Amino acid sequence: MKLLGLEEDLRRRSSRPTTGKLIIGVLGEYLYRPGIQTAHTNIGNLTRLRESRMERAKQGEDAEEMRKHVEPIWTGQIVYRSLITREALESVFPGHPSLSYPIQGRIINAAALISKPECYGSVYDGPWVAQVAQEDLKAEFVNWESRVQTLLDLMKSPSKWVINSVDSLPSFVSGRVALIGDAAHAMTPHQASGAGQAVEDGFVLASLLAQPEVNRITVTEALKTYDEVRRPFAQDILQRSLRTGEIYFLQCPRVQDVTLESSAAGGISENTLLELNDDLGDILRWTWTTSIVDDRERAIALFKNRLGINIAAV
Ligand SMILES: Cc1cc2nc3c(=O)[nH]c(=O)nc-3n(C[C@H](O)[C@H](O)[C@H](O)COP(=O)(O)OP(=O)(O)OC[C@H]3O[C@@H](n4cnc5c(N)ncnc54)[C@H](O)[C@@H]3O)c2cc1C
Repeated sequence: MKLLGLEEDLRRRSSRPTTGKLIIGVLGEYLYRPGIQTAHTNIGNLTRLRESRMERAKQGEDAEEMRKHVEPIWTGQIVYRSLITREALESVFPGHPSLSYPIQGRIINAAALISKPECYGSVYDGPWVAQVAQEDLKAEFVNWESRVQTLLDLMKSPSKWVINSVDSLPSFVSGRVALIGDAAHAMTPHQASGAGQAVEDGFVLASLLAQPEVNRITVTEALKTYDEVRRPFAQDILQRSLRTGEIYFLQCPRVQDVTLESSAAGGISENTLLELNDDLGDILRWTWTTSIVDDRERAIALFKNRLGINIAAV
């Protein structure tokens, strides 16, 4: 998804609609995207967009709140990534129970994650994506079991991706501008849902904009409705992803008092592991108990309600 353009002068204070096309700015590039020099460069426009919003809001009460969200935050998490071939893995460890996933059948996308929860909310000092030496990667996992070491040995030229997040934006919209996807709610990858949530944003937004009542005047109401429906949901998934990560990293309440030493000595009981597995299931339950189609219907009804249209009578 690309930024198509932006024709609204964000510095205008008047709420009167300007002429020109409605153009939705879709800016992501928050977390990763190797091959592009620095992620900071790529969020330049988004930062400017947020700064413009701040400019509009600086006289208002929410200026201080908006200022907190100009920069994304570091989650304290880093992913080391590397591509290895299936043949290479099988030659040294046939039947390796790897959690990494295959690409085109033969290539395995190996990812090794680290988490420093005490750093959550800070600003990462350094490039967000960088090549690193294999020794640096291995240094993070000293004393880990042999199955892990096998994978690390095969990750010959790993890259390091800093996981940043856009947590709790007070709004996804301003006037006739809307943020969707990572620009609105970049999240940790543990619910495997960042792209899915971006698609759901687009689905609801497109459905609203396709309503016959949408015009240059009412479009702001459509965008407010998009924000009302999508923001709480996407931000809830962001929180669920964080909680999932806490369990994966064993940094969650049930085991937070277990030290490395006591863990190695069996300090985490099988029962506790089963409870953690249940917790993961509970966190993921939304995937089969909620429906984006229901949310779309609710959004359309809310929008018509905003315009004073009684759907039952239509
Ligand atoms: C390790 C990892 C694993 C993940 N696994 C999953 C998963 O399993 N499932 C899942 O759903 N999600 C997953 N995600 C998250 C998912 O990849 C993102 O949420 C998704 O790509 C966000 O899409 P987007 O379109 O919002 O942003 P992006 O994919 O970042 O797209 C933004 C686009 O905007 C372009 N752009 C940037 N600046 C400008 C500009 N000024 N002008 C024009 N264009 C511009 C960029 O080039 C880019 O093409 C994972 C993320 C990570 C880091």
